[in-house]
Amino acid sequence: MKIAILARNAHLYSHKRLIEAAKKRGHSIRVINPLHCYMNISPHKPEVHYRGGEILSGLDAIIPRIGASVTFYATAVLRQFEMMGVYPLNESVAIARSRDKLRSLQILSRKGISMPTTGFAHSPHDTDDLIKMVGGAPLVVKLLEGTQGIGVVLAETGQAAESVISAFKGLKANILVQEFVKEAGGADIRCFVIGNKCVAAMKRQAKSGEFRANLHRGGRATLIKVTPEMRKLAVRATKILGLNVAGVDILPSKNGPMIIEVNSSPGLEGIENATGKDIAGMIIDFIEKNAMPGKTKSRGKG
Ligand code: ADP
Ligand code: MG
Repeated sequence: MKIAILARNAHLYSHKRLIEAAKKRGHSIRVINPLHCYMNISPHKPEVHYRGGEILSGLDAIIPRIGASVTFYATAVLRQFEMMGVYPLNESVAIARSRDKLRSLQILSRKGISMPTTGFAHSPHDTDDLIKMVGGAPLVVKLLEGTQGIGVVLAETGQAAESVISAFKGLKANILVQEFVKEAGGADIRCFVIGNKCVAAMKRQAKSGEFRANLHRGGRATLIKVTPEMRKLAVRATKILGLNVAGVDILPSKNGPMIIEVNSSPGLEGIENATGKDIAGMIIDFIEKNAMPGKTKSRGKG
């Protein structure tokens, strides 16, 4: 097959591993920087051109590895490939859904997926009631499009919550306010889902004095065996958002496991190292089984 990774940096661990796994299986694979793609939106002959003229054609599958800062442009490029009938490992619309923490939590809540109580408001006059709505301080404030723990803040008192919320609002940032799940103790569970299966999972523990378990924030990954309930939850959330591959973040809570987010470009380094599994190989296997010309739609909603 002819596969392209839509990514800006060919040298990241995840991308190197995907290239290695694809080559090992005899596929041709290259990295395409979405920011160097441009396109003509024509009903008869949609095209993507690359870096001053090369026409990108004949691709069988695209592995989108879209960084948060270029979501808008890169999903437009991916959509163009979908118009041309190229199989996307994750569909553009599903990536856009999962990138927005508010949109994805609304879609998941409609399907009864458990999550921490979450609030969203526009007017600064409603901050007091918004804080009450999620059970008061301590609470978590999140940027709608943050990743790697950046833009996730713990406000320990009501006063801190008010200041943080008004500071973000002053910057015109879109935020959501969320119940703080204290009993998680700075740990979360990252489930790696491919297709209908949770193929690997790790526990991430935040470094001391920190509540965010992200590996980019110094969290440590260890191997754990997740319960069938958690596996099912991770696969369901992935399906509901219309993704094929996702890293699902789950918090253990006194009311059972709760979803906090579904990542459409989950990193491979932490999970491969923690579990010793060949996740990159499993992703390429999945593409081999599922990529078909013209098959560009998944079944997510919203
Ligand atoms: P990001 O997209 O930046 O990873 P997350 O919503 O996954 O944002 O939050 C980052 C980390 O912060 C999580 O992995 C978890 O450890 C911690 N966290 C997030 N939300 C909560 C919450 N409501 N209660 C307790 N810890 C949380
Ligand atoms: Mg996360």
